[in-house]
Formats: sequence, C-alpha cells, structure tokens
Amino acid sequence: MIALLLEERCTHCQRCVQICPALVFDARPDAPPLLARPDDCQTCFACELYCQADALYVDPSVLNRVRVDADTVRASGLLGVYRRDSGWDEWAEAPRYANQHWRMEEVFARGRELAQAGPSKAP
Ligand code: SF4
Ligand code: SF4
Repeated sequence: MIALLLEERCTHCQRCVQICPALVFDARPDAPPLLARPDDCQTCFACELYCQADALYVDPSVLNRVRVDADTVRASGLLGVYRRDSGWDEWAEAPRYANQHWRMEEVFARGRELAQAGPSKAP
C-alpha cells in the first residue's frame, strides 16, 4: 500500500495522479499531489514506475498501511529500485534490467480509461 510521498523530491509532474487506477492522489497546483485516499491503494506499484523523481514509496503490504518514516525509506536504498528492476523508462535499454514489463503501459492506459468512464450503464 502507498506509504510515502517524499515532497522534497517531487517535481509536481502529476504523473502519479494521472496513472493511479484507484484515484489515490489529488493534484495540487505547483505542489506535490496530496495522498488523499491512501486506503484505496491497490498496491499495484504503477505510481512508482511512473515517478521519474523516485519520490514515491509503495510498501508491499496489501492489506494494511504500513507507517514508515522518510529517513528510513531514504536510507533503505529502495527508492527507484522497482522502476529500475522493471526495466522501466530510462532503464529500458539497459541489458541488465531488460524485460517485457514496459508492455504493461497498454494495460494501465486501458484501466485509466475505464476508471475515468465510471460505472458502465450496460446490464
Ligand atoms: S509522479 Fe512523482 S514527481 Fe510526479 S507528482 Fe507524483 S510524486 Fe511528484
Ligand atoms: S500503488 Fe497503484 S493504487 Fe496505490 S497509489 Fe500507487 S498507483 Fe495508486
């Protein structure tokens, strides 16, 4: 479940707001997004993948929101590791981390469309 947004790293790009399938974040003009609905997090790690600033930390626990402090997370060396080991974005060309995870973009895009469309009117 989403645990932290490290504001000093955040570039206000709002990509996490746009990508999150559970609408956990609220955009704020010229400021880091607000973790408005953390308990709705689905632990999908998409926000970590898309955060080029490595400003987000998602804890692997699905059921409970783990309380961790920012210093511990900074010192852990975990920030950005999920992106790197997924061969995402700037890591896509690095043979050490190459895989097919980047193909998930199609799935995420479809999910965003569905979430934004709201409940279906079909029976
Ligand atoms: S994706 Fe990362 S840098 Fe961009 S707004 Fe979200 S937390 Fe900040
Ligand atoms: S892990 Fe997934 S559901 Fe949770 S905040 Fe990030 S993008 Fe949203």
